[in-house]
Amino acid sequence: MNLKILLLPGDGIGAEVTSAAVEVLNATLKKFGHTVEYTEGLIGGTAIHKTGKPLPEDTMKKALAADATLMGAVGLPEFDNTPPSQRPERGLLDLRGGMEVFANLRPVKAWPSLIESSPLKNHLVEGVDLLIVRELTGGLYFGTPRGIVWDTEHGGAGDRAYNTMNYSRLEISRIARMAFKFARQRRKHLTSVDKPNVLECSQLWRKVVTEIGAEFPDVELEHMLVDTCAMQLVLNPKRFDVILTENMFGDILSDEGAVLAGSIGMLPSASLGEKKGLYEPVHGSAPDIAGQNKANPLGAIGSAAAMLEYSFGLVKEAAAINAAVSKVLDAGQVTADLKPKGKPLTTSEVGKAVSEAL
Ligand code: NAD
Repeated sequence: MNLKILLLPGDGIGAEVTSAAVEVLNATLKKFGHTVEYTEGLIGGTAIHKTGKPLPEDTMKKALAADATLMGAVGLPEFDNTPPSQRPERGLLDLRGGMEVFANLRPVKAWPSLIESSPLKNHLVEGVDLLIVRELTGGLYFGTPRGIVWDTEHGGAGDRAYNTMNYSRLEISRIARMAFKFARQRRKHLTSVDKPNVLECSQLWRKVVTEIGAEFPDVELEHMLVDTCAMQLVLNPKRFDVILTENMFGDILSDEGAVLAGSIGMLPSASLGEKKGLYEPVHGSAPDIAGQNKANPLGAIGSAAAMLEYSFGLVKEAAAINAAVSKVLDAGQVTADLKPKGKPLTTSEVGKAVSEAL
């Protein structure tokens, strides 16, 4: 197979972890006899510096032309006080919208050799294997009207800001159907997370998810309030198989999931639509460690594995990467965030170790 992949390293540690993931991708594709053509594009703060925009048209064009896109991270501290529409993160939101990737999959797995890295008690974390399916192109992050009204006349006393949470039946049903399909391939249990006691959006969410559930009688459906889910994720995470939820709840709950995996640097993600796939680690650009070659690249490497599986159907190749990651973890060849007993490896050394373990 010849794979056409767009690389968007982005900002901060994005470039470092993407480069390690590409090394592993190359080693995998070579081993299994595939060829690959990479294109590269700009996104985030780096793109603002070079083009004035967080998502240049050229990047969007390349993303629509490629078979799949592998991204690093976006965000630079110098933009912290700029309005949301001009921040690096806007580039990523627009990319997701433009690629129409409405489903964000965030697997959370407790690797046996990392049990000690989680701040939770071992017996709670051992055996955790869940998948968060987060709606990605609707809800509060995209809803309009939105804005800030500054009350300059009264020295800010009447300042007001507003966002709109908005969901259609179509947006809910397509993500629900995808989540049920994943549940069917796993342990056949789906927890739909919402807040219908307060939000009308959640009332529609619950109604539509229940209706779609009737198409999947073999999958057990339960509904859970988002606050209860936040608590259950640390009290009894093993009870979850697939968690289906809307955009903002999924954003927050999946970072909580990162605690179970030992480090946010471990978590991969896949964003899927009808046609295209966007793959990126869950973490951000980590300005505090950027440029030091010490970021954990395993989330990015796991995202590359997910890309092979979901965008190209290369299931064996993806499994080979995950097995190599497991070996490297067992050997303690990990970055500082995972607190190894010996000397921590650098980002590029972990990339090399995974490639060699393949
Ligand atoms: P972050 O994920 O960048 O960092 C949080 C903490 O985790 C930091 O201490 C960081 O050092 C650590 N960390 C993150 N990734 C790591 C890795 N791979 N290895 C080791 N340690 C790692 O979140 P933040 O600090 O809240 O945000 C920093 C910037 O990233 C902000 O501009 C934010 O908007 C942006 N951001 C981008 C994305 C994305 O690109 N998808 C996601 C979240 C945040």
